Order: sequence, then structure tokens, then C-alpha cells
Amino acid sequence: MKYNFGAGPGILSQEVLQEAAKAVTDFNNSGLSILEISHRSVDFQAVMDEAQQLVKELLNLDAGYSVLFLQGGASLQFAMVPYNLLDEGKMAAYLDTGAWASKAIKEAKYFGDVKVVASSKESTYTYIPKDYAIPENAAYFHITSNNTIYGTQVKEFPASPVPMVSDMSSDIFSRSFDANKFGLIYAGAQKNMGPAGATMVVVREDMLGKVQRTIPSMLNYKIHAEGGSMYNTPSVYAIYVSMLTLRWIKSIGGIAEIEKQNNAKAALLYEEIDRNPLFKGTAAAEDRSHMNVCFVMEDPSLEPEFMQMAKDAGCVGIKGHRSVGGFRASIYNAMPLSSVQVLVDLMKEFESKKG
Ligand code: PMP
Repeated sequence: MKYNFGAGPGILSQEVLQEAAKAVTDFNNSGLSILEISHRSVDFQAVMDEAQQLVKELLNLDAGYSVLFLQGGASLQFAMVPYNLLDEGKMAAYLDTGAWASKAIKEAKYFGDVKVVASSKESTYTYIPKDYAIPENAAYFHITSNNTIYGTQVKEFPASPVPMVSDMSSDIFSRSFDANKFGLIYAGAQKNMGPAGATMVVVREDMLGKVQRTIPSMLNYKIHAEGGSMYNTPSVYAIYVSMLTLRWIKSIGGIAEIEKQNNAKAALLYEEIDRNPLFKGTAAAEDRSHMNVCFVMEDPSLEPEFMQMAKDAGCVGIKGHRSVGGFRASIYNAMPLSSVQVLVDLMKEFESKKG
């Protein structure tokens, strides 16, 4: 038995994996694999329609939003956002909460002016800055909702005077929030939604077609929206598995139920980190992520031993990001509470071994 604490691509529901496996040999009892059918077939069109509909439903989106499934990962969105929304000579505001936010900032600078409203870089991004003002003349305000590497999460989104754009790659569909406050949301599928290869973009249609520059077709949201995410061949299988995951979220009770489970999982693990004298959390308590739980040992020389013990017990992917060290347990939607309990029990066992 393996317990997958990997940060991404991350754990998917067993139910989803079984159905996805079946579709590889026989999709919808068609006698064909999903890997060999046309993206323009009736069967795949139904998958795309259902995926888009489920996103709208789970996020409670008002009319006027397009849901796209694109390629190029969240990283391409770092450039597509300013390409489509930031005119030359205009300014966009960004909150710098980590390596991914910094990469988004870097790309935006190719297209216009960037105002970084606040940064927690000086403390290795262990907290989310809160005292900042969003300039009213910004084209948009970009915020990373969950910082996968540092284990911090924005608990309350600011009241922004300009459209908000958010990278929600590592916490989309994990908690309830008002999606209608956002002009654009993007997320790579490979954490809470599906496999790598599809990137979801939710965009308010009135945000598009406003910049003066010419945008190459493949990088133009408007063209993808008009083409129903089929301007070119989409990542058929990644979208299919994402759709199955969205169906699964709905079937277990939707975002409200998922959030309840995620809160319980996070509480269980953080309580042990705080109680156990050998471990300590690295993120500011009020900003602790419910998706990526980052911690170190009071005595770093014990870390390899705990890592080995966890590995022997089947816990996979708990090594911290190479830029911060220590441990990171990612507890995405599909991870059951019982798997988190396995890790907590190991921490207790390690304590008694050392005590
Ligand atoms: N943003 C965040 C918050 C991420 O966690 C990641 C990937 N770990 C990315 C962006 C980059 O995503 P991709 O690899 O899909 O480009």
C-alpha cells in the first residue's frame, strides 16, 4: 500500500483511475480507446461539455464566464494572462508569495509595467503579506491562492478595485470561495483536478478583446473561447480524467463536502506537528495551507531517519521542495483521512523511538 503525498502530479481518486483505465481500452463501450478517437467525435464533445458544465456548477459561476481547457501548464498562463489583459504602457499589480508568483511577475514584465504590491521573499515566503494596497489604475491584480512550495494559502481574498486574476493550481476545487469575484482563474490540472497536460482557465468574457496588440491565435483566449477549447486538438485524455474527477467531487457532495474533509485532514496533521516536540511547521499559523503541509525537524540531523521510516511505511513524496528542504505532505482532495493518520502515527512512533 502506497500513500501518495506528492505535490503534483498528485493523488487522484481510485474510482477515477479505474474508470480512466477502462476508457484506455474501451471508451463508452465503443470498442475504441479514448486515446484513438477524434476530439471532434460526439463522444468526446460530450466529455468537453460536461467538464465545462461541472466547472461552472462546482464554482457557482454566474453567466458570462468561459471555461477553457488549454495546454502549456500553469506556466504558459503566466505569459498568456498579460499577453491578453495587459496593454503596453499599462500596469498590472502582483502579490509576490513565492517562486510561482515570481515567475508570473517575470513574464508580465515582458508585456507591460508590473507593480509588486507586497512580497514575503525576505522570510522565504513563510507568510502571505496582508497590508498592501491595490492600485486603482492596475489592469488587474494577480494573486497565487496557494503556494505549493512553502505551504501557505490565502485564506481571505482582498476586496480588489480591479479585476482579480488568480493562479489556483494547487487548491482549486478544495474549498469554497466566491469565484465571481475573479476576472480570470487558472489552474494546471495535475494536483486537484486530473493528470498533467490540461490547464483550466475560467475567464469573464468581458475581460477579453481589450488590448491593442495582436495576439497569436494559440495564445489568444478569445479564439480558444470561440472555438470551445477545440481551436486545435485539445489534450483529450487529460480533459477526460479531469471530467471524471469533477464528477467524483460532485458525487461525494461537492465543494462543501470536500472542504470539510480537507479541513479535518489539515487539522489532524497540523495538530500533530504542533504537539510533537520533534517537529515544527514552517508556515505562519494563520496562513497554513490545507493542501501542502510543510514542516521540518527541530533537530535536522534526524530528518533522513524519519524520511526512511516514512518511505518504508509506504509514504511517497513527502520530501520538501529542493529550495526549502524538510518535509512537505501534500494532502489533496483525493487523499483520505486514513492516509493522513498513517503519517501522524509514524510521527508519534518516531517520537517514542527517540524519547
Ligand atoms: N503555479 C503553482 C501554484 C504551482 O504549484 C505550479 C506547479 N507546481 C505551477 C504554477 C506551474 O505549473 P505547470 O508545471 O503546470 O506549468
